[in-house]
Amino acid sequence: MTQALRSATAAAPKASPAPATSTVTQLRRSTRIGDTDLPVRIVRNGPGNVFLNVHLDEKTSRGVAEAHVRAHGGSYLEFDTGSTQRHLKVRVGKTTYSVDPNRMFSVEGLLKSERHISPKPTRAVAQRIVKDAVRFLEDVVKPELARTKATALVAMHNNTHDHENVAKGTGQISVSFYEGRPEQADQVFRAPTGDHDDLILTPNQDVFDGLKGEGTLHAVRLRPGLAKTSLAAGMLSEWWQGPNALVAGRPTRYVNSEAEHGHAEVQHQQLAAVDRVTKRASDAAPTRRPR
Ligand SMILES: [Zn+2]
Repeated sequence: MTQALRSATAAAPKASPAPATSTVTQLRRSTRIGDTDLPVRIVRNGPGNVFLNVHLDEKTSRGVAEAHVRAHGGSYLEFDTGSTQRHLKVRVGKTTYSVDPNRMFSVEGLLKSERHISPKPTRAVAQRIVKDAVRFLEDVVKPELARTKATALVAMHNNTHDHENVAKGTGQISVSFYEGRPEQADQVFRAPTGDHDDLILTPNQDVFDGLKGEGTLHAVRLRPGLAKTSLAAGMLSEWWQGPNALVAGRPTRYVNSEAEHGHAEVQHQQLAAVDRVTKRASDAAPTRRPR
């Protein structure tokens, strides 16, 4: 497939039109992290999965998720800061920190690197940011999952071409990267075709099995309970496990949609597949715990 075709459009595929009764609503909420009120934009379209973008620079994933929700249902959430910067500006007291929003879910994750938060915070400041970030999940994201009767929370991301360039030590996200790293991913499915930078990650065995069964998209089964010191430290994927994954008393599946910047068509296919597979898994085992 040509680059032009891949990146041609973020519009939803025509194969499954929106139900005639669908109504899209948009609202703004606010979530406080440290001393900063962060606006959150929510696009709602009835029942379906919940799609969350935290990295505002990952524009392909934002457009795809919003178009997907508008066409097929569910809810889409993103921070509405007006910025397209990867990091959030979070003030605590007199200091404004630049925070990677996909590292703010554990103190160890935040403190691990200045790439995750700068300037370097005290442990007390890191604890406060993590507490507030988790409250965002509990007070904003989980009610949305309950409202839409979601079978999965889908985190939306984009990466860069050959991001996994392991020889250069620059990357950590591609199907090639996860092959041969059982400490990170205990099962890897490589589809017959497809850019290795485009892949779906999930800790849920039934979601992985469903994707592998369809056979068309790269999929990785994240090892549950990744060590806190792992690459995943502080990430939402690390947090959303065990008791943390309960929504209204039911375990909710977790999926990462990862595609190279510009690969809108593939990312649309990923979301359609995730909707199908998580619905089938949920119908088969509505209350199964993630394993
Ligand atoms: Zn991302």
